[in-house]
Amino acid sequence: MDVIVVGCGAAGIAAMRKLHDAGLQVLGLEASNRIGGRVCTTEFAGKAIDIGAAWCHGEKDNIIFEMANPLGILGRSDPDTNFYVQSNGELVPEDKANGILKALGDAVEGADKNIKQSISQFVRGAANSNDTLKEDPKLSSSFIEWFERNNHLGGQDDPKRAKSLKVLTEFWDCEGDPFLNWKGRGYKTILDVLTNKYPDPSKEIPLQILFNKEVENIRWGITQLGIDPTNPLVQVKCKDGSLYAAKSVIVTVSVGVLKERHEQLFYPQLPAEKATNIQSLNMCVLDKIYVEFETPWWPKSPAKFTLLWRDEDKAQFGPNDQWITEIFGLWTVDYQPNVLLFWIYSKGAEAMEKLSVEEVKKGVQKLIDVVLKKEFDVSPIRDILRSQWASNPLARGSYAHRTVYTEENGGGAIQLSEPLYHPNKFPVVCFAGEATSHHRHSCVHGAVESGFREAERLIGSFKEFGFK
Ligand SMILES: Cc1cc2nc3c(=O)[nH]c(=O)nc-3n(C[C@H](O)[C@H](O)[C@H](O)COP(=O)(O)OP(=O)(O)OC[C@H]3O[C@@H](n4cnc5c(N)ncnc54)[C@H](O)[C@@H]3O)c2cc1C
Repeated sequence: MDVIVVGCGAAGIAAMRKLHDAGLQVLGLEASNRIGGRVCTTEFAGKAIDIGAAWCHGEKDNIIFEMANPLGILGRSDPDTNFYVQSNGELVPEDKANGILKALGDAVEGADKNIKQSISQFVRGAANSNDTLKEDPKLSSSFIEWFERNNHLGGQDDPKRAKSLKVLTEFWDCEGDPFLNWKGRGYKTILDVLTNKYPDPSKEIPLQILFNKEVENIRWGITQLGIDPTNPLVQVKCKDGSLYAAKSVIVTVSVGVLKERHEQLFYPQLPAEKATNIQSLNMCVLDKIYVEFETPWWPKSPAKFTLLWRDEDKAQFGPNDQWITEIFGLWTVDYQPNVLLFWIYSKGAEAMEKLSVEEVKKGVQKLIDVVLKKEFDVSPIRDILRSQWASNPLARGSYAHRTVYTEENGGGAIQLSEPLYHPNKFPVVCFAGEATSHHRHSCVHGAVESGFREAERLIGSFKEFGFK
């Protein structure tokens, strides 16, 4: 075997496709029973729905857009109607909400991105100095909390684990529509495009993937003198005891998985610098709760409800129900006329994941009763589907971002993407996956780009070392 790819999410499948096209022998080892990882399209309310990635974010320099758009499979939505709902049920007028949101946006844009501070620390500071934010401090504080959740800023337990200001320059948005949908087919369509199954299933590329193969250990320090092409340089051991060998491996597991397992996963262990970098990145937890209603009760579609929590209303929820107060937004869902997506973040999401579906449904009903019923005639809930990305041992969270610790330690995506080399400079262990994307982490397009990047690195090295 030339290359083993550990993990068959978007990054892994992209890497396999490119290596296959270059004529290299490649084997994918996937711990679960499906490809896609955090791209996970399932069925709900009789139609496709995404419990992981759902939208192609942007057009320019977006590899997903470049692959999917010519096939006519990306769709655009009409502009949203926005509702700003306080936790006492009262609506905030749109012009007032827009004023506060603009003040927050302007403050962040004007921030010095090189100071080793978190975005949330900065925004909280701005609340004391910005004239618009000072006008109604209580309402501004609710908006700031929403802003932190909506932008997954983190740092609830430890301020240094929060998203750093530097992220704002390190992460590059793709220009164009930031919420392109898949016309009701779901994000998994991109996996079919990558494997050539779409548009013509008879042209599917036969990638060699073994499922239910949880990789436990990667033995990479095999240091024979020179490189003998007949000798593998890396051995991969799975939980079921099976062993595989190759000249090189591409590891695509999430930063959440690396945090939990890197000490057991690599032999010899990762260099200290890389291990520190992994620990300094944060794997944020963002979950989705899809709620199907008997009839759509919202005045217009598409719509977004921004939930603005006030401390006195949070107090109405007992300790076991505090998770409900971390639901921060409700969005209509394209091609799902009766469904609303309830977004939940961080500790609240982790608590929600531990509850039964029935308990989550009761919590959602309580939110509706306390917050929404004052202004809206909400129809009964028919069904519910939620994600559990933090409890999933093959994800351990939703996506990675730099933190204040990262800035202090000098790490980040570029360092994470550096391979581990054989003494003669052949890359033996390569790293792909969204968190290794130099400027588009946290997205599928970053993941795919990273898979292509590492495949190209290996194709070049295989040629250079005369393996192919
Ligand atoms: C709720 C949510 C919403 C999102 N929304 C969007 C969106 O709208 N647009 C967007 O662009 N991005 C979105 N993302 C982010 C996007 O899903 C990810 O960035 C991307 O899918 C990551 O791909 P990956 O290949 O890097 O990692 P993964 O998809 O995590 O792939 C890693 C693979 O490795 C496997 N694995 C783990 N451990 C082992 C092991 N020990 N042995 C073998 N295999 C293993 C896993 O099962 C998985 O298949 C969202 C993510 C979440 C969670």
